[in-house]
Formats: sequence, C-alpha cells, structure tokens
Amino acid sequence: MIKNIGLVWLKDDFRLKKNSALIEATKIHDKVVAFFLYKRKKFETQQAQKWWLSKSLKEFKIKLNNFNVNLEIISTDSYKSFFEKLFVKKNITIYWNRTYEPNYLKFDEYLSKNFNEKKIKFKIFKGNVLNEFTEVKKSDGTPFKVFTPYWKNAEKFYSEKIPIKEKKITKCNQKITFFKNTINELEINPKKNWFKKFDEHWEPSEENALSELRKFISNKIENYSEARNFPNLLGTSKLSPFIKHGQIHVETIWSECSKLKKFGASKFLVEIGWREFNHSLINFFPHMLKGNYSKKFDKFPWKKDSTLLLAWKKGLTGYPIVDAGMRELYATGWMHNRVRMIVGSFLVKHLLINWKEGEKHFRNCLLDFNEANNISGWQWVAGCGADAAPYFRIFNPILQGEKFDKEGFYVKKWIPELKDVPKKFIHKPWELKNESILKLGTDYPMPIVNHEKARAKALIAFKEI
Ligand SMILES: Cc1cc2nc3c(=O)[nH]c(=O)nc-3n(C[C@H](O)[C@H](O)[C@H](O)COP(=O)(O)OP(=O)(O)OC[C@H]3O[C@@H](n4cnc5c(N)ncnc54)[C@H](O)[C@@H]3O)c2cc1C
Repeated sequence: MIKNIGLVWLKDDFRLKKNSALIEATKIHDKVVAFFLYKRKKFETQQAQKWWLSKSLKEFKIKLNNFNVNLEIISTDSYKSFFEKLFVKKNITIYWNRTYEPNYLKFDEYLSKNFNEKKIKFKIFKGNVLNEFTEVKKSDGTPFKVFTPYWKNAEKFYSEKIPIKEKKITKCNQKITFFKNTINELEINPKKNWFKKFDEHWEPSEENALSELRKFISNKIENYSEARNFPNLLGTSKLSPFIKHGQIHVETIWSECSKLKKFGASKFLVEIGWREFNHSLINFFPHMLKGNYSKKFDKFPWKKDSTLLLAWKKGLTGYPIVDAGMRELYATGWMHNRVRMIVGSFLVKHLLINWKEGEKHFRNCLLDFNEANNISGWQWVAGCGADAAPYFRIFNPILQGEKFDKEGFYVKKWIPELKDVPKKFIHKPWELKNESILKLGTDYPMPIVNHEKARAKALIAFKEI
C-alpha cells in the first residue's frame, strides 16, 4: 500500500461496478477520498438533473462510507481554479474516468500537463462507453459520419476485447476528510415544486439500475424491436438517466444482453450503439455543439415566436400526441423516444422554430440529458445532423398518434381533459364537434397551426436550402 492519499474525481460515475478510477485508487491507497465538483452555473440550464444528482450523491456517499471512502462535494465556479490549489499539494495521487465531451477531454490535457510538471501522479481511465471514440474509424483513418457502417465496426471492435475478469473496489484502512468548505448534497436539490413528482417515478442508485436492466431483460427485451415504438407499452428500458449518471456502465449492459442471442437484444444494443456514435460525432465534429453539423442550415430562416414556443413547452399545441409528450417530460423528467421525435419534428418543421430552442428546453428538463445524445437527437430531427432525417420527413402528428397510440391511452394518461374523447377523434379532437364531451378552445386548445399548411410551408423552406 502507498502512503499517498488517493483522490478520485467523480463526474458521472456513481457506481462501484466497473468504476476503474475508484477501483484502482482503493487498490493502491490506504486512504482514499472521492470528490465531486459542483459547478452551480452549469446546472442553471440543467435544472432537472440537479434532482437526480442530489439523490445520487446522497446514496453514493452512504455506499462509499462502507469502504471507508469519504465523498466530498465542493462548489466551485471554475474547475481550473479548484485544481490550481491541488497542483501545490504533496503526497496525493489523482484518478478519474474520462467524460466524452470535447471540453472535458481538453481539460484532461491541461490537467495532465500540469500534474506532470508538478510531479503529481495521476491516472485517467476509460469512461462510460464501449469503445474510446478514437478507436473506431474508417479504414482511411477518417471518422464515420453514417451510423450503420460505424456500428458494424464499433460492435466488432468491442466484442473482440471484452474484459474477462471484473475488478472490485477494496475497503480502505482509514476514512479521512480532505477538502475544506465542502457542501451538503441537499444544497443541490432544486427547491421548486416541479421536481416533487419525480420521486414517484425514479429512485436513482446503482442497485436500481441493475434491477431495472434485469427486469427489462426478463420481461421486455424479447419484444423490444416492436414495443419500443409504442409509448403506452413502456417497452423500453428507461435506463437512460442511470446511464447518464453512470449508475450503470454500458459494458455491463453489453455483457448481460449480448449473450442472449435474441433479436430484441441485438436491436437494444443497436440503440446503445447510437449513444456511442453520438459521442464519436461530437468529439470528431465539435462545431456541432454550437451550431448545425451541416453548414448549409446556417442560412435557414427560423421563426422567432415566443407564443408558439411557450405553447409547445407547456403541451398546449392542440395536437394531443405532442402535448402528451411535453407533459410527460414536465411531470417525469423523461420522454419516450418516439415522442421525442414527434415533438421535435413539430417544433422545427410545423412551427419552424430553431432546434436549438428545443435542445435548450430538453437540456433543462431531461433527467437523462446528455450533450452527445441531445445535440445529435435534435440535429437528426431537424435534418442538419450527420446521419439525419431527410428534410422532407415531416412527422404527421395525427398519423403518428393513430399509429403508435391507437387507443389513445398514452394521450389520455397525460391529458386528462381528453379522457372522454372517443378513440376516433383522440388524435384530432377538433373534428369531434360535441361540446358536451369537449369544449375546444376552453377545455383544450385549438391546433396552434394547421398541419397541412404548416407542412407545405416547411417543405418550401427546407427545400430552398
Ligand atoms: C430530440 C431528441 C433528444 C434526445 N435527447 C437525449 C438525451 O439528452 N439523452 C439521452 O440519453 N438520449 C436522448 N435521446 C435519445 C433517446 O430518446 C433516449 O436515449 C431514450 O428515449 C431513452 O429511453 P430508454 O432508456 O428507455 O431507451 P432504450 O430504448 O431502452 O435504449 C437504451 C439506451 O440506449 C441509448 N439510446 C436509445 N435510443 C437512443 C437514441 N435514439 N440515440 C442515442 N442513444 C439512444 C440510451 O442510452 C438508452 O438509455 C434523444 C432523442 C431525441 C429524438
């Protein structure tokens, strides 16, 4: 054992299993302290995540205690100024897992340079991905821009190097505190009423992530390819917030699912593949984080209309499937993938509002918000991404509703005003014309745009660029 203190910088790594930085530090040092840097400003635009984060910190702190590891939370405005104070410390070794966002990877370079200069030992490990994004490239060394060939290569690359033996965290001899001016995780928990309902839907912890995965494998994976499209069926894993916060490593998901040899399982792993692809995209093409991947969209005449934008955010567009999705998001911090595509398409194509507004709203409201998936998801919807939906693909909110929520169960769950509307009219309540069931414009809004007209307008605008 080394006498140095091992410090583990936790970011989105609230797990014991496959947490390489934590496992290595506790193997080597008698005394280990884990720390989380809370950048208040960053979370001002990611309000919902504060709820998950606060719960995760609380739960993980208790868990690490059992291994004599303290988890300390430090509030800071700048990572740089925090680490500058560490550069002068003696007898410490620092460990962390990579976060696959260009800013974090750039910061890793800065830290490496400074720790080397100050002769402080440090070690950086692979984070929550199957492959390092630099490992999967075309044969000519350039990055993939299309998903299917990317995944063919990425999947093969990973399956050839699956770790055989899983390492475990070691109990430290002595528990110590290290940092001054730490804060309590409760200071992170958002005070607004908005988040109170999240408690009914989620319990963030590594155990729950694993149990959700196992339940999904036992009950749903077989029919995943079909059921994943129907928001009322709850046919997906709902693992995304756990993955985002690292309560489960995607390697664990891979190990559990790849051995199943079922079509549903391979389709599920394809979706994990999209996450890998999106991480690769934002790192090879970091301009996507600020604007359109495809530059020709820079000239697109987006409309600025705060009334329409607010109606969309509040789930008051008059299109039930869109409104149900936006209300699900507000109530639970999560939205079904099919519905994310429908509401996204509605914002950028029916309302002609810049996808960045949608991205910002999702960033603030999603418990699973993740830079790579959110940016790529929105650019896919808008048509300006790398492997994006073609411009002429405009989701028809009526037909999408009739196809994927045939009985209207999903819509009725989130829009109680429509509970008595017959199935025939549930996705076009304006055709009902029976005020004893629904007073349109009073109980529920009239459509804020006419579908056919909006579609025609969008086609012209998108065709032009
Ligand atoms: C406009 C838009 C914004 C999105 N923003 C995010 C986001 O911020 N964070 C996020 O994790 N996902 C995002 N997605 C992708 C997808 O909607 C969610 O990952 C999925 O709905 C999560 O639910 P689940 O865990 O039940 O998924 P499952 O179907 O069970 O899939 C398992 C996992 O695979 C990954 N995955 C699934 N679908 C996709 C996809 N289309 N793209 C990339 N990864 C996928 C996720 O990690 C997911 O948890 C977005 C999609 C769109 C269209």
